[in-house]
Amino acid sequence: MSGVASAYSHLHNLHTKLKRVQDQLARGPRQIAARRKKVAKAEEQKAELEAQLKEARASADKKNLDLKSKEAGIGELQSKLNVASSNREYDIVNGQIEADKAAMAVLEDEILEQLERVDGVTASIKEASETIATTEASVTEFESEFNSKAAGLKEEQQKLESAIKEAESIIPGELKEQYHRLVATYGSEAMASTANGICNNCFVTMTAQKRVLLNSGTVMLCPACGRLLYQSEAE
Ligand SMILES: [Zn+2]
Repeated sequence: MSGVASAYSHLHNLHTKLKRVQDQLARGPRQIAARRKKVAKAEEQKAELEAQLKEARASADKKNLDLKSKEAGIGELQSKLNVASSNREYDIVNGQIEADKAAMAVLEDEILEQLERVDGVTASIKEASETIATTEASVTEFESEFNSKAAGLKEEQQKLESAIKEAESIIPGELKEQYHRLVATYGSEAMASTANGICNNCFVTMTAQKRVLLNSGTVMLCPACGRLLYQSEAE
């Protein structure tokens, strides 16, 4: 009786171990993909910042040209001022000069603003480049770590799978098909132990009749959750 219980508990354990190995094998590539996504996102941000930098530089250059042409214009107006033939003409030209000077002051402020933006964006680009480099390095490191672990894990997986095949011989013929179906659906949770007549998967209490059967080493499907129910070793 206890031999049967320990054989089922052994089989259940093997399934649990296999699940753990399978999870580890599946998690690695998922984690690698998540890190790669982070690199791609940082690259996208960097490209966006580079476009912003180009725009800020072009804007500063354009405003600089405007400034120069205003400066030249003022020079011309100044020579007109020198040859003004009337007070009225003098006042008009002088007014233009004042207006152009005010426009130049605005342009100078705007140029300064663009240059500050250039500095800010340049710093952000540097930051993005660093993020890309460190994340890429971590992907490479993680990947090589995982690859060296994966070989061992795959070996372990194969060993567990053949151990399970062997241990499965305990399943009675009439339950074999259902057992395989349960394993395909629930993996390591295809089986549930029972102690004191309670299913350890769904915590439903078995009828007295079922408890007698379980106590005598019979395995059955839990009437509530459908798992392959076996008497735990403790009882
Ligand atoms: Zn159950």
